[in-house]
Amino acid sequence: LSLPIHDAVLGGAAAFGDAPALIDGTGELSLSYGQVDAFHRRVAAGLDEAGVRKGDVLALHSPNTVLFPVAFYAATRAGASVTTVHPLATPEEFAKQLRDSAARWIVTVSPLLPAARAAAELAGGVREIFVCDAAPEGAGVRSLQAFLGSTAPEPEIDFDPGEDVAALPYSSGTTGVPKGVMLTHASIATNLAQLEPFIPMGPGDRILAVLPFFHIYGLTALMNAPLRQGATVVVLPRFELDAFLGAIQKHRINGLYVAPPIVLALAKHPTVADYDLSSLEYVVSAAAPLDAALAEACSARLGLPPVRQAYGMTELSPGTHVTPLDVADPPPGTVGRLLPSTELRILSLDDPSKDAAPGEEGEIAIRGPQVMKGYLGRPDATAAMIDADGWVHTGDVGRVDGDGWLYVVDRVKELIKYKGFQVAPAELEALLLTHEGVADAAVIGVTDADGAEVPKAYVVRRPDAPGLTAEDVMAHVAARVSPYKKVRAVEFIDAVPRAASGKILRRELRES
Ligand code: ATP
Ligand code: MG
Repeated sequence: LSLPIHDAVLGGAAAFGDAPALIDGTGELSLSYGQVDAFHRRVAAGLDEAGVRKGDVLALHSPNTVLFPVAFYAATRAGASVTTVHPLATPEEFAKQLRDSAARWIVTVSPLLPAARAAAELAGGVREIFVCDAAPEGAGVRSLQAFLGSTAPEPEIDFDPGEDVAALPYSSGTTGVPKGVMLTHASIATNLAQLEPFIPMGPGDRILAVLPFFHIYGLTALMNAPLRQGATVVVLPRFELDAFLGAIQKHRINGLYVAPPIVLALAKHPTVADYDLSSLEYVVSAAAPLDAALAEACSARLGLPPVRQAYGMTELSPGTHVTPLDVADPPPGTVGRLLPSTELRILSLDDPSKDAAPGEEGEIAIRGPQVMKGYLGRPDATAAMIDADGWVHTGDVGRVDGDGWLYVVDRVKELIKYKGFQVAPAELEALLLTHEGVADAAVIGVTDADGAEVPKAYVVRRPDAPGLTAEDVMAHVAARVSPYKKVRAVEFIDAVPRAASGKILRRELRES
């Protein structure tokens, strides 16, 4: 699909007219498709008049709001590449991204203006900061809303969708420093078209956007895909269980796109029973390993068909595998089937130049039109990720069954090598969660007194299980796994560190 992303997504918006596109889940504000279409064009004209030029990088620094998509598509229509920024980034982190991406413009929201100003000051090179909401009195910033009255002509940019970078999201930084990922208009638009037949949405569908738009999963599943298809997106600024459940009830949400921690909450949290969630028709989970038993507990509790998984990564725009909504009974634990016009190989873990034997575990490699253009300013990292034949080496371990379903085990780098065996932390984490006294858990490899790498569990006790001991935890796992997989150390913690996309930050546990 070789179109600029704003046209690929909003090409049908005028025809959807008065249908609601975006609803603020915390207030009353809502935008129709006609408004999103008209507003983003006016804002694009305003940005153009303010000096935004083709190829400029614009940093979008905002929690989920109904204006986030308007700002995003306005910026791309004005020719900018949008780098999305974590709204809770510290000024130092934000400045790093501004410097790394050579951003010239910032769009933020009033409450975050001080952080944005501090970051711009640290980074240098930013020409102007705008806010999406009403500008605070005397703050000396322009609001994008002021552009709604602009009479400037709409910018006429000559796009080359296969070359021009539409989005510059940063990878989650789970395994190292976050890297700027160059995604062209065509790679994002093509991936939307690849995904669409398998998770169709349309007018009347109501999707809850609780995962952040700034991360590629939210950007795709909660913004681009539903708005392209005429669905209604109910927007929440953060995940807070009661507000989330209340929004499902109030807005009669039928489709949920979540990450495993939310599946966990839906499966285990007592207050779930207090809400009418009968409007829900399906739940999709992605971004991190989801255990089959947990998925089953969630769907059974909600009386829904199996939780469907999808798989992808920022570098792949992001999707490669999805579990089609119309397959009634996907095999437990699968992340889905390969998307059309995408190729998959499972590479031997011993010798990555060879394929693993059929059905065996190995490193997942992907080739297709959704592959990124490269990491911004990091040719070495790009070459390490994309080989000479165009294959992306994902760093994830997986296997494919006889029917073409993919199962993701864990990341290659996270596998714990115990006496020549390989132990996947994700498998042990899932087992730990089956203990009724365990609220949350994470596992990493640590070096024991004999210099061997062994699994160590970090466990959050449930409030009603204050007496849970390390011995209880180790015995629970030992009774259920081969001896080489036993958890050999336990530490109790208050919360498992997670990225905004729901991933466990094992790196932080390692450094603690
Ligand atoms: P960084 O690359 O900066 O270390 P990251 O890899 O976490 O961070 P993302 O691009 O946000 O950054 O995440 C992609 C990764 O998420 C995949 O490589 C994979 O490890 C994981 N992932 C995505 N979907 C699934 C899934 N359904 N099951 C298991 N893991 C998944
Ligand atoms: Mg990654």
